[in-house]
Amino acid sequence: MPKREFIVVGAGLGGLATALRLAHRGHRVTVLEQTDQVGGRDREVRVNDCVFDAGPTLLMMLDPFEKLFRDVGEKFSDHLSISLCDPNYRVFFSDGNRLNCTSNMALMRRNIQELAGDADAAKYPEFIGRLGGLYQDSIPKFVRRNYDSVLDLASPKALQLALKHNMLSNLAKEVERTFDDKRLHHLFCLQTMYLGLSPYDAPYVYAVLVYMEYGEGIWYPDGGMVQIPRTVARLARERGAEIRLNTKVVKVDGKSVTLESGEVLTADAVICNADLPTAEKSLIPVKKDVERRYSCSALTIYCDYEGELPELLHHNITIGGDFFQNLDQIFNKHEIPSDPAFYTAISCKTDKTKAPEGHQNLYLLIPCPNLDHPFTDADAEILRDKVFTRLEKETSFRRENIRGMASFTPHDWKNKLGLDKGAAFGLSHDLLQSICFRPNNKDKANPGLYYVGASTVPGNGLPMVLIGAELVEDRLLKDGYL
Ligand SMILES: Cc1cc2nc3c(=O)[nH]c(=O)nc-3n(C[C@H](O)[C@H](O)[C@H](O)COP(=O)(O)OP(=O)(O)OC[C@H]3O[C@@H](n4cnc5c(N)ncnc54)[C@H](O)[C@@H]3O)c2cc1C
Repeated sequence: MPKREFIVVGAGLGGLATALRLAHRGHRVTVLEQTDQVGGRDREVRVNDCVFDAGPTLLMMLDPFEKLFRDVGEKFSDHLSISLCDPNYRVFFSDGNRLNCTSNMALMRRNIQELAGDADAAKYPEFIGRLGGLYQDSIPKFVRRNYDSVLDLASPKALQLALKHNMLSNLAKEVERTFDDKRLHHLFCLQTMYLGLSPYDAPYVYAVLVYMEYGEGIWYPDGGMVQIPRTVARLARERGAEIRLNTKVVKVDGKSVTLESGEVLTADAVICNADLPTAEKSLIPVKKDVERRYSCSALTIYCDYEGELPELLHHNITIGGDFFQNLDQIFNKHEIPSDPAFYTAISCKTDKTKAPEGHQNLYLLIPCPNLDHPFTDADAEILRDKVFTRLEKETSFRRENIRGMASFTPHDWKNKLGLDKGAAFGLSHDLLQSICFRPNNKDKANPGLYYVGASTVPGNGLPMVLIGAELVEDRLLKDGYL
């Protein structure tokens, strides 16, 4: 097979993993990244001497990470050292109760028993077992595969599995049917927020996220989440890939790309890791007349906090008074939530190098509407105030102890990383944008153009974009490029 030339637009994890796979096969690969860092959403932010992972903080579903390394003749554990976060996280409910959530089945069952009583605790092992079955069947059969048409799903085996696991029913309703306690409904639904999707709009197949947490655990890589794209970039460079930072692509025309500087580069194929709806609107020549639906956005805040915060673990989730109303405001009414649920991380609890002694690198992630709501500075202020007030009520947090602060608003996700509508998690994962209905990774209208990343198949999340890189490699192979 002759050496081919490939251009990858964007150095997010999906783009880097694709570059590594292609470079490992001996092809010439050039990655063009508009910012000054690799990693895309998985990037680093610094405030004073505190260091933060700007986006992803939860390492879950290790298999696609290990597979990438294996496929290029390496061993994941030779490059990245990971530790299990146990407990996974602490949940603060609005009634003042707290729950440590753990992937230790016996302990979790006991914690549920203390919170919600014997009946719900007794249902927990069966629930996780059921989700384990869903996970084992759905990942290989539905997620880790390319689709050429909706008909690909119509095999008797696929239909049988979908029916067996009730995959297309509503996630929130299934959880409500399983447990009596309302707090558990929230607890086992909230994971779809990692996709920027309301559990009330989510097909039950996304309960695999609950299994990933409770069945496989939440992990932390030494040095932070940014070590993942940095390591993948290093391995790609070692195999000859060129990664050009501060290089913005302004046009992708079939097999050639035009840079902001005016330079034109050509290749045998282009793999676009820039957000798919943004590429469709502003990079590619043949436009598509399709309506896309978007995930929510997030306001993320990074604080250099002086003092101790003993009530908070490495990962924490705070649920507002009315979880349903919170989701309705974000997803349907496109309003700033009046009592927001939010996530906090303090990675220096696991990794002392991330903050100076006596300080905490306090990260807050507050889901909010995408830019269907015209997010203003006043909105950011309101959300910040609500979250700080709640933290002051629940913990020893005091806002006057903040020594420095930075944030990412929906406008930043759009303007700095090119995410259309500031939708921090890409296109929505509602039923009609999931599995075979998600925008394809092969652009039939623009021959030679392929996609990888959160808004194409299979979807959002670091493990998913790594599977996306496997799928795009498979496409290139079938299309005779490799
Ligand atoms: C706040 C937040 C928290 C998250 N938490 C988690 C988590 O805990 N665990 C998890 O697994 N996932 C999490 N995710 C999701 C995860 O971060 C994403 O799914 C993943 O990083 C997306 O990777 P990607 O390959 O789509 O590339 P992206 O990260 O979207 O990167 C694309 C790259 O393309 C570049 N680019 C765009 N346009 C151009 C252009 N015209 N020219 C050149 N370069 C361009 C961008 O600058 C960017 O670097 C989170 C996401 C967010 C926003």
